[in-house]
Amino acid sequence: MSSPLMSTYAPPRVMFVRGEGTQLWDDKGKRYLDFLSGLAVTSLGHSHPAVAEALYAQAKTLLHTSNLFATPIAPEVATTIDALITGEDGDETIGQVFFCNSGAEANECAIKLARKWGGRGRHVVVSAYGSFHGRTLATLHATGQPAKHEVFWPLPEGFRHVAWCDPDALEAALDPSVSAVLLEPVQGEGGVNPATAEYFAAVRRICDERGLLFMVDEVQTGFARTGRWFGFQHMGVRPDVVTMAKALGNGVPIGACWARRDVAAAFVPGDHATTFGGTPLATSAARAVLAEMRRIDAPALARAAGARLTEQLSSVAGVKEVRGLGLLIAVELDGIDAKVAADLALDNGLVVNAVTASALRLAPPLTVSDEEIDEAVRILTGVLAEASQAA
Ligand code: PLP
Repeated sequence: MSSPLMSTYAPPRVMFVRGEGTQLWDDKGKRYLDFLSGLAVTSLGHSHPAVAEALYAQAKTLLHTSNLFATPIAPEVATTIDALITGEDGDETIGQVFFCNSGAEANECAIKLARKWGGRGRHVVVSAYGSFHGRTLATLHATGQPAKHEVFWPLPEGFRHVAWCDPDALEAALDPSVSAVLLEPVQGEGGVNPATAEYFAAVRRICDERGLLFMVDEVQTGFARTGRWFGFQHMGVRPDVVTMAKALGNGVPIGACWARRDVAAAFVPGDHATTFGGTPLATSAARAVLAEMRRIDAPALARAAGARLTEQLSSVAGVKEVRGLGLLIAVELDGIDAKVAADLALDNGLVVNAVTASALRLAPPLTVSDEEIDEAVRILTGVLAEASQAA
């Protein structure tokens, strides 16, 4: 039977019908360990009771009113996000937040803000080769992967790409038309490549010297995934704009763009909008997620579990290198096709993905247990032994 869905994804091999914590079950009742978390989304695990209860309570109370009216929850979540970004909990937030529905929308907001802040003629956003910022036309152009652009030209004007982790390349690309630099702290889709603290410090310095915005895309890295609340916090700098999505709703679509107050002030009513952004339903999920993440000290969990997983994976036959931060990990394979290994892992009840042709990505829930890590490494050990025999 031909699918009623557009063919934007390869035909899926499995249909999941239920999840709990790190576990998933398919429509035939088979159990899997989810070491991908829906691409770094379900960081608290599947069907988290605090999120489920928040959604149920909100669904019975008020789902949506439009952004023409105030909602009680969005300002509360924005205040928490501000405190997590700045580390400061004062009466007045240091930045302001725009809520939207996805990572690409969060970046669209940042790009529009950079244009409005820069003014006419000073609108170019510089990003890095190997980056990923979304699939809308503007965020696709910000994405530093020219092969993905090819069939969609003409793309919106105003984007430029430079070599990753190379401050000289960035300096060389600057001219008076540039308003902002947009970078991930760890290039997730590009293969899980962390930036260095030196690079982020140099970018901060260059942005300060040239009067540019330093915008950090934390869509994949945000909310404790890397072992800190935000990835940039490993690098000792504070950006001017931070975008986020994925883990904020633990599966409920919500994104956000945070900017320092004086930068956010470039937007005036009418400049930007979205029907669903900041809706009571999505923000009630986010409020529950952030409260639970703070309660369990999610960054500490990610650091401890990430260290255990990294250490065990490093000694598995067929593994050339393990890289990443916290629980955002790439396993570089030694002569084994990553797609073959990911398919075999799925057959054996472990969900991971091939982030490049030669590397698997692992991003389990931050709540993953030691036993689940041991089980996943056992499965992967068998999978790589089988794959290397086939190779
Ligand atoms: N930015 C980064 C760093 C991402 O990893 C992603 C998605 O993987 C996006 C942006 C786009 O997010 P979304 O798919 O929610 O639009």
